[in-house]
Amino acid sequence: MKYLSSLNHFFWKYRLRLLLGIIFIVLSNYFRILSPQLTGYVVNTIVQKVDVAIAAKAGNSFRPKEYDFFVYKIITVLDSKSFGERFFWSAMLLIILAVISGVFMFLMRQTIIVMSRLIEYDQKNQIFTHYQQLDTNFYKTHSTGDLMNRISEDVSRVRMYVGPAIMYFINLATVLGFSIFFMLKASPRLTIVALSPLPILAITIYLVNTIIHKKSQHIQALLSDLTTNAQESYSGIRVIKSFVQEKAMLGFFTQNSEAYKKNALSLAKTEAIYFPSMALMIGISTLITIMVGAIDVLKDPTHHSVGTIAEFVMYIQLLIFPVSAIGWTASMTQRAAASQKRINEFLQTPSCILLPGNPLQPALNKKIILENIDFTYPHTGINAIKNFYLEINPGAKIAIIGKTGSGKSTIAQLLLRMYDVDKGVILYDGVPITQIDLTYLRSNISYVPQDVFLFSETIEKNIAFGLVKAPTTAVKKAAEQANVATEIESFPYGYKTMIGERGVTLSGGQKQRISIARALIKNPSIVIFDDCLSAVDARTEKTVLNNLNLYLENKTAIIITHRIFSLLDFDNIIVLDDGKIVEQGKHATLIKEKGYYAEMYNRQQQQEQSL
Ligand code: ADP
Ligand code: MG
Repeated sequence: MKYLSSLNHFFWKYRLRLLLGIIFIVLSNYFRILSPQLTGYVVNTIVQKVDVAIAAKAGNSFRPKEYDFFVYKIITVLDSKSFGERFFWSAMLLIILAVISGVFMFLMRQTIIVMSRLIEYDQKNQIFTHYQQLDTNFYKTHSTGDLMNRISEDVSRVRMYVGPAIMYFINLATVLGFSIFFMLKASPRLTIVALSPLPILAITIYLVNTIIHKKSQHIQALLSDLTTNAQESYSGIRVIKSFVQEKAMLGFFTQNSEAYKKNALSLAKTEAIYFPSMALMIGISTLITIMVGAIDVLKDPTHHSVGTIAEFVMYIQLLIFPVSAIGWTASMTQRAAASQKRINEFLQTPSCILLPGNPLQPALNKKIILENIDFTYPHTGINAIKNFYLEINPGAKIAIIGKTGSGKSTIAQLLLRMYDVDKGVILYDGVPITQIDLTYLRSNISYVPQDVFLFSETIEKNIAFGLVKAPTTAVKKAAEQANVATEIESFPYGYKTMIGERGVTLSGGQKQRISIARALIKNPSIVIFDDCLSAVDARTEKTVLNNLNLYLENKTAIIITHRIFSLLDFDNIIVLDDGKIVEQGKHATLIKEKGYYAEMYNRQQQQEQSL
């Protein structure tokens, strides 16, 4: 329960709605509780008419003082009327009471359920904002499914508590309060008799609910397996087909599906106990109320009237739903507490990237120094960068080359402060990266990652992604610079073509160039290309880099690649191996040194000639 207390500030935020909701609940129940009394009066009127002798014997107990003030006033007026009129007006009043109570019930849902939706919305935003602040490492260690669950499933469970559960609880409290108050006034003995089966009902429902919850959780897990299985089969269909594994996949699916079905059926069986047990309890309650009530009236008509029996039977009907909701409310609240615990756990996860208290915005196109940095990936312990020292002059064009796994991408990540270094410091114009405004830093670096990611959106929106607003001409220009414009324009919908499941399937090279266009449309101080032309042929690569010459003027460029270009005149070429710089210098110098670079260059030249 203590986890749910973190929701209190939401209740405080929406306190007016909550208060109004409570008032509506009370009013709705007040008008509902009057109808049993009026019904009792009607029954008594009939008894009076049918048997004057009983009426005389009973005295004035037909107009009992224990009725509500409002009902009492009405009865006083009605008593002066003829039998037919009394009957007609009582019926009318019953309808009016039902309508008034219904209107307040509508308003109660409108306030409390709406409040719960608003809280749900706030909570989702709170979680999403936190997601965006968390560092790359967090995303590496948590599965997407888990993250999705917290923002959707867990928040919905919590909403069941802040909305329906609280509403039913207050509802129950008022119905119980009102009915017990009037019941005790009418007959304490009959009250005890009528209410005695209700606790059994509440406990039964609670137990059934707990079992249902356990079963549905198991089912939820099975369902998630099933969905993952199906999803993988769809997205991996090419691999499955080419390895002829359709049968095996179907086998897995059927197995999962079978387990899911078995559990779902068993859940349905348990759920089926719900309503019969309610009906049984209503039956028992009604039966003993009528029996005991009748025996009492027969023994002594002044004790209570026949109308009281009718009145009590109606109270039982009114109470049965709220009472059965106790069990439901209790298990809802338990579930909400468990979900809120998971949400809190997540919200309390700090980002490993600590934002500076006094963020600075140094010029980024000045000197950059990576001063003896060391970096180890936190969760794997891989020491990717070792005592790395590099100075990048303003506007320099740097190439980083090296084998796979030598640490090239890691350098790019560190320059963007996706991770913090373990030792050493990265300086932008003399300011340590940890003191720089992170949003400023990242929005002034155009980074094209090694693994391209495009959103299921139009090509235009994908290219314009980094900007709040981008004119079509800018999108086109970026596409031209990335040498992908002609291909885009050949699609039937041009720049409005959808990418992904609902649109075209792009080739690896096209994706890479669109992702380059996305970087080019920004006008950054620094450009980092992480092997982003690996899937295009050498000629296209040359064209793209050629186009970039003008664009890169006055910008610092760090180009990570596994191919060597003589075209772009790099100011410095860094050869990385195992997280360390093994060679560096200009093309001509490195060729003369006859090291790794020269060897790689020669091999590439041979390959190109043999093509
Ligand atoms: P490159 O880009 O040169 O191929 P990387 O910088 O990607 O090399 O990787 C350097 C080393 O760090 C490799 O040993 C790789 O396995 C490891 N590595 C890369 N990314 C991660 C990561 N997110 N988590 C853990 N280890 C990583
Ligand atoms: Mg890489």
